[in-house]
Amino acid sequence: MPESLELKLTTLTPFFTGGVDGICDRLHETSLIGSMRWWFEAIVRGFGGYACDPTEHKCKDNDLCAACFVFGATGHKRLFRLKTDLELINDESNNSLKVEAKNSKWYIKRGLFVKNATVKLIYSKQEHLLPSENNDETSIKKVLSSEELKNMLLLTLKIMSINGSFGGGTSYGNGVLNIDCDRVDKNIAIHGFNKLKNHFPVSISSNDSKPKLNDFFFTKIQFKKIQINAVPEKESKWYTDNRIIPISPQMRYYLRSLIREDKNFSKDERHRLMGFVPNNHENEQKFSSLIRISNAYPLNENEYEFRIWGWFPSDFEKKDEILNKYKEWISTLPSQKGGLWEKTNLSPLSSSTLFCDSMEFFIKQLLED
Ligand SMILES: [Zn+2]
Repeated sequence: MPESLELKLTTLTPFFTGGVDGICDRLHETSLIGSMRWWFEAIVRGFGGYACDPTEHKCKDNDLCAACFVFGATGHKRLFRLKTDLELINDESNNSLKVEAKNSKWYIKRGLFVKNATVKLIYSKQEHLLPSENNDETSIKKVLSSEELKNMLLLTLKIMSINGSFGGGTSYGNGVLNIDCDRVDKNIAIHGFNKLKNHFPVSISSNDSKPKLNDFFFTKIQFKKIQINAVPEKESKWYTDNRIIPISPQMRYYLRSLIREDKNFSKDERHRLMGFVPNNHENEQKFSSLIRISNAYPLNENEYEFRIWGWFPSDFEKKDEILNKYKEWISTLPSQKGGLWEKTNLSPLSSSTLFCDSMEFFIKQLLED
């Protein structure tokens, strides 16, 4: 008999999941699972294990990486299922919101709002046999226990929920979800990740450009409720009604401009850090942003919070430089001319940033609410 666990899901900023023709009509389990897989891979790599890149998928049958073992591949079934009780909800969800500031304008994709939805995590109570290279029956069979699997999945969800985001459109600030999963036992989960690392070691230096949790940083910034002038009053109603401040495009714009003003960083490096979609398809490369900024969600009646998070991959040459600059930019005073907060006209009440020294300690910090 499969076991199941009920989790409560509430959106803090709208959740965008692609449906047919890109229309976000309901909360798609596949989108949740896709996001979970992306984070699970990053955690596996952070522990030193091997997770392939599904966009260049090569795993199949018994020749698997740690992520394909848990999330499935050709010839191998996913070890768990998710089921939501949702049929949604928002017929306005596909409208774009136009945001303008100075000489720029952006279109934000709206998404879905959900309160206390139920997500069922369904998994087998049995132990999961790790694939062996030869079918030698005399070799000791290694397994992942169902407790390890469950806690690894819960730990992944909890880290995403407290620090990151889910679904599509995260570069529009979408996808901050609160998932209630208090029952995660981090020691059992870490034991599971170490088991996967030992069983699926990194064979080549192929992980260098891929997201690895130990390359990540997570910032949360709290501030007093403000009106974002960039959003026309009429169009901001949807956000006001849902208690969201669409701060992400503006923050991205000014963070990008700080990188541009800093002569340490080339145009290509800026594109890699903040993302870039070329207008003409010649010569220029498309990048999805390494730095993600959420829209702001309420903590209480008067205070809001937003997240800046991302990663600087091992093959990004100026990794240390950008990390130091980033720390400097987010800690400037609001009065400092040309600083991030003066540019954005925002006065943070407080902020905190987490970086990784050791994975186990980092995980512990990332699970603290
Ligand atoms: Zn794989």
